[in-house]
Amino acid sequence: MYDVIVVGGGPAGSAAAIACDRANLRVLLLEKYPFPRDRPGETLHPGIEPLLDRLGVLEAVLSAGFLRHQGNWVKWERDLQFIPFGEDETGIWHGFQAWRADFDRLLLDRAIALGVKVLPPCHAVRPILCDGRVIGVETSQGIFEASVVIDAAGGHHWLAKQLGLNIKTYSQPLVARYGYVRGQCPIRERAPAIIADDCGWTWTARVRADLYQWTRLNFTIERIDRGWIPEEFANLQAVDKSRVADVTWRTIDRPAGLGYFLIGDAAAVLDPSSSHGVLKAIMSGMMAGHAISQIIEREARHQGDRNYSERVVIQEYCQWIRDWFGHDLARLTELYALLSDRNRSTTI
Ligand SMILES: Cc1cc2nc3c(=O)[nH]c(=O)nc-3n(C[C@H](O)[C@H](O)[C@H](O)COP(=O)(O)OP(=O)(O)OC[C@H]3O[C@@H](n4cnc5c(N)ncnc54)[C@H](O)[C@@H]3O)c2cc1C
Repeated sequence: MYDVIVVGGGPAGSAAAIACDRANLRVLLLEKYPFPRDRPGETLHPGIEPLLDRLGVLEAVLSAGFLRHQGNWVKWERDLQFIPFGEDETGIWHGFQAWRADFDRLLLDRAIALGVKVLPPCHAVRPILCDGRVIGVETSQGIFEASVVIDAAGGHHWLAKQLGLNIKTYSQPLVARYGYVRGQCPIRERAPAIIADDCGWTWTARVRADLYQWTRLNFTIERIDRGWIPEEFANLQAVDKSRVADVTWRTIDRPAGLGYFLIGDAAAVLDPSSSHGVLKAIMSGMMAGHAISQIIEREARHQGDRNYSERVVIQEYCQWIRDWFGHDLARLTELYALLSDRNRSTTI
């Protein structure tokens, strides 16, 4: 019997596991793939540093040799310009190009070092329910029970679908195509770029010494050809085939309920134009960890009063997710509205 089961060992899952462990809860984390495993989403805003510090991984991340950058090249409604992150008395702020296989490994290792039990590879099959409450998970390695199950399994919404929760969309279906190329591209050496055009936008970034990542999103229903590659990478060598991801703006109506919390992409997805997915995954993981520790602590203090305090904490967490999703949604809507009328009518 565990206090918490976390399904998924991405940034959201590891952050939640660390936060729960710090609150002295017994945590089991289930990850279906052996690590290291690949994920897109290397570019991290400097705002992630205080969170990594709180999780106790900042030193390890700083020592990992990830590329750093001072801002982004942006061509949106205006001509191409460099937008720096900013600076303060400590100096210029830098983002990270964190290779996800390594970054996610650092976070998971931290959770393991603290005492979180990790079962890789272990596939969560379905939740176990009792009187409308999630009480455990049936997995490829047997059945595990816990007071709370956290879904950190990403944007295919494992738990929301199993519980029949409402997945609400806020954009037309949006599919991003992404890929990697090897070689040298001097103009992309120092900072990533996002370039909008009449049909969508293209993101390009140098993510390792000789490796570059691109993402293309079309606002129109035109499909992006499998062989498509950004012009600036035309002379570089494609690494594997490009892939697609569903980045339709969406969130779950009730991201927490009796015995469960949804975090990271499992709770909400926006397209990656803002490069905030990992930051939000970590923030929501830490927030859920805090909420769960409050529930279990209050339960221990006021025996028999679990339902009341649990419902209050659940409401607060749901509101927090709705608030930040609503804020980011409004910001993204404003940004897209800056583009041409043609885009505006097809995007939202
Ligand atoms: C093309 C593209 C580019 C992006 N670029 C950026 C970027 O530059 N910066 C940024 O911050 N974000 C970016 N993102 C978003 C970012 O990738 C996600 O927001 C982030 O990975 C979410 O983290 P997570 O922990 O919620 O989920 P994930 O990283 O998806 O982790 C989920 C984990 O759960 C495991 N899992 C799934 N199902 C099960 C199961 N049934 N049982 C057990 N384990 C399971 C998976 O193996 C995986 O390890 C991008 C996304 C895309 C598609």
